[in-house]
Amino acid sequence: MRESLNIEKLKASVIGEIDARRHELSELSLKIHSNPELGFQEVKAATWLTRYLEENGFSVQRGICELPTAFRGSYGQGKPAIAILAEYDALPNLGHACGHNLIAACAVGAAIASKPAINQFGGSILAIGTPSEEKGGGKVIMAKKGAFDDLDIVMMVHPGVRNTAITQSLACQPLDVEFFGKAAHAAAHPEAGINALEAMISSFAAINSLRQHIKDKARIHGIITDGGEAANVVPAHSAASFLLRAEDDAYLDKLKQKVINCFIGAATASGAQLEYRWEEIYYAPLRNNITLARLFWQNMQSLGRRGQLFNKKNSFGSTDMGNVSQLVPSIQPLIAIAPARVSTHSPQFASAAASEAGVRGLIDAAKALAMTVFDLVANPDIVTKVKKEFRQEK
Ligand SMILES: [Zn+2]
Ligand SMILES: [Zn+2]
Repeated sequence: MRESLNIEKLKASVIGEIDARRHELSELSLKIHSNPELGFQEVKAATWLTRYLEENGFSVQRGICELPTAFRGSYGQGKPAIAILAEYDALPNLGHACGHNLIAACAVGAAIASKPAINQFGGSILAIGTPSEEKGGGKVIMAKKGAFDDLDIVMMVHPGVRNTAITQSLACQPLDVEFFGKAAHAAAHPEAGINALEAMISSFAAINSLRQHIKDKARIHGIITDGGEAANVVPAHSAASFLLRAEDDAYLDKLKQKVINCFIGAATASGAQLEYRWEEIYYAPLRNNITLARLFWQNMQSLGRRGQLFNKKNSFGSTDMGNVSQLVPSIQPLIAIAPARVSTHSPQFASAAASEAGVRGLIDAAKALAMTVFDLVANPDIVTKVKKEFRQEK
């Protein structure tokens, strides 16, 4: 009883600590928002975030995993090792339309506010900077280099249009395709040509037919990046980039074969030669740790945030956080910063990421994360339960 009272008191101090830093955290977030940097080029954001961590007693390693804008800030030693991840890359033309400026400020704020928990109960708290989520899979590269191997628990909160603790994201595999045909005068000698563009168009048509007969949450979408040089020349070359997504790896594998069959069919029909390449960076589906999600959700609710532990209306894309969640028990809850009609990756969402609602989201998310850290370090049994669930699910 005394213990639980103590934790409630400590949690109240977390709320006070984050509230006291509201101005600093909001300034940090707005500074990143008004200086949008693309993936792997987030030099300013990484500088500001690491400086803030150092000023607040964290030891910081910069440029980890051979990625100049990745970092690892740590406080305390030993187990449990709990990490809060920061993202800070922006989108081309749209700036911070995914709200990663909020994720960044929230992560460092939550890590700093967790220090008293570490001082009191032991363990370590880490703020890990993970560049280029939108493209290039910073966390996939970092995972391959072992950046998450020594961790017990990983959390991050993403801004969205609903409050929810359990989120879904799809496995995602990029694909590059090329057709090689034969150039000829399109009017004088069309019979001498092999049309690589028509092969690509037939592939799109075949994929459109296939789309009627795939599972609900599977997605196939692509763009043509080369469709020929001149209208009076039979295109000798065409190229396209695709993304294939599915709820799980097993169905993604099936889908990959079905899609490739569409291209093979088009190659046979047109006589063009097909070449394709599955990109190395693959985003794994997100595995939610339900024990951890429930714990976070209780803290979120205690702050007066309304929503659902899991909301079926949540939209889903893919994230490299999925790859982390396959290695370490993880959650990636959403915090509402805009009305439900607003889509992420839109100019409206970019405005929301710099709004008062955005700051409220970052503050509440940081509080709920730090409160969850308190629960975890103060209750080794919960950490054991989280890890047991992870092992059993595997
Ligand atoms: Zn995004
Ligand atoms: Zn995002």
